[in-house]
Amino acid sequence: MYKGQHERRDRLVKERHHDTYKGRRKCASATLCMNCDAIFVDGRWTWIKGVESIKKTVCPACRRIKDNYPAGQIEISGSFFERHQHELLNLIRNREKQEKEQHPMERIMDIGADKGYAMITTTGVHLARRIGEALAHSYQGELDFQYGDAEKTIRVSWKR
Ligand SMILES: [Zn+2]
Repeated sequence: MYKGQHERRDRLVKERHHDTYKGRRKCASATLCMNCDAIFVDGRWTWIKGVESIKKTVCPACRRIKDNYPAGQIEISGSFFERHQHELLNLIRNREKQEKEQHPMERIMDIGADKGYAMITTTGVHLARRIGEALAHSYQGELDFQYGDAEKTIRVSWKR
């Protein structure tokens, strides 16, 4: 093999290596959820991409979903809800999308809707409260919420 060939190969290897790690940030303390790809970095859960993490776990939100152990419960009822169910449930799903983008641990677990009644469960207390407030803000009605377990759980009810 000629000297020149060696050099060319070294350069290729280097470039390939460089490409693989382009844009990645090494962070030894980062922890990745192997279920949803949320990543715990600098003390909070985020959706940051391209952080190389060594530690893997199942995040609290995924654990709550798996164990069916909600932090928030929202009860919705009334004839107004029955007439506008589709629209209201859309508003709720949009609220979740916004919240989840900023706070990966705030998610809807389940929406159980029947005629004029819905029970929605969430992984976080903030989302449950935000949903109640969004309904009251857009459609008035009667909003009520009650924290339990040192503010680790919340029951929200909205009626119209
Ligand atoms: Zn997860």
